Amino acid sequence: MGEGCALGVVLLALGGTISVPGGARGARLSGAEITAAVPGLTDLRVPLEVRDVQAVPSGSLTFAQVLDVVDVASRAVAEGADGVVVTQGTDTLEETAFLADLVWPHEAPFVLTGAMRQPAMAGADGPANVLAAVRVAAAREARGAGALVVLGDEVHAARWVRKTHSTSPAAFSSPDTGPLGHVVEGRVRLLLAAPRHEPLAAGCDRERLEASRVALHVVTLDDDGAQLQGLEATHAGLVVAGFGVGHVPDVLVPRLGTLAEHMPVVLTSRTGSGSVLRHTYKAPGSETDLLRRGLIDGGFLDPYKSRVLLRLLLASGAGRDHIAKAFAVRG
Ligand code: GLU
Repeated sequence: MGEGCALGVVLLALGGTISVPGGARGARLSGAEITAAVPGLTDLRVPLEVRDVQAVPSGSLTFAQVLDVVDVASRAVAEGADGVVVTQGTDTLEETAFLADLVWPHEAPFVLTGAMRQPAMAGADGPANVLAAVRVAAAREARGAGALVVLGDEVHAARWVRKTHSTSPAAFSSPDTGPLGHVVEGRVRLLLAAPRHEPLAAGCDRERLEASRVALHVVTLDDDGAQLQGLEATHAGLVVAGFGVGHVPDVLVPRLGTLAEHMPVVLTSRTGSGSVLRHTYKAPGSETDLLRRGLIDGGFLDPYKSRVLLRLLLASGAGRDHIAKAFAVRG
C-alpha cells in the first residue's frame, strides 16, 4: 500500500547502457521505449508511470542530480506511489544507490536497476532487470528496506552492493553479505534485512554540497603521498583506501596526521570486502597508529561508499565528532 492513495510504481529513467540503442541510431531510448520492450510488464497489473529525468552515462551524474531524483521520487511516494524504480548506468550505481539510501525517508522501496548489455545485443539483460525491479518496487516484502539494487533477479542492499565486474551480466554482488534476496518465479523473496538508520537530510544546502569536495586516496606500494600535498586548500574531507585492514606506508603517517587536524579523514580498506581493524597492529602506518592520529574508522564501508557518506555529512554542516559518530553507526 502507498503512503497516499496507491498509484503503482513510478519509473524514472536516467540513461546508461539500458538506454543505448547501438547501431546507427544516435538518440538514447526513452523510458517509454525501455519499458515497451519488457515482456510481461503489463501482465503484472502494476500501474506504471514512466518519466524521463536524464539521459546520460552514469559517470556524468552528480550528487545534486541524484538528490534531485530522490526529491522527485519522494514527491511521487507522498502522492501515493507504492514504490519507485530508477534506471541508470551501472558504473556509479553502487554510489548513487547508497546516496539515495542515506536520505530516503519512506517505507516505499527505492529500487535501482540498469543493464550490462545494450538493448540490441544478444541476451540483453535490461528487460528482465526492469521487470524484476518493478516487481520489487511494488512488493509488500520490500517495504522498509530503503534503497535496493535489482539486477539478475537478485535484490541487493544499497549499503552493501558493489559493481565487481566490468562486463559480466552478473556484475553486481554484495561481497560482505550476499544478496538480501531473489526474485523467484516472479515472487520477491527477501532472506535478510539490512540495518536501517535515521535518514540524513536530503535537502542539504546545494552551495555547501558543491564546496564539500571529498578526495579519495588509494595507497599503493612505495606510495610517497605526493598526491596528498596541498589537499587542505582544495578539499573538505579525505577518504584513505588503505592496505588490508587499514594500513599505509609509514612515510605517509605525518602527512595524514596533519590532514586529520584540518579535515575529517576516514580510513577504509582497498581490498573490496571486510572491515578495517581498530587495535590489532601497532607499527607506524598501522590502523592503531592512524586512528590515534585522528583518522576516523570507516568500519565495513568501502572507500566509495565512505566518500558518499562523508560528503553528505559535510554538506549538512556536520563537524568531526558528528561525522565520527555517523561512521561508528553506519560503518
Ligand atoms: N556503462 C555506462 C554507465 O554506467 C554506460 C555508458 C552510456 O550510457 O553511454 O552509464
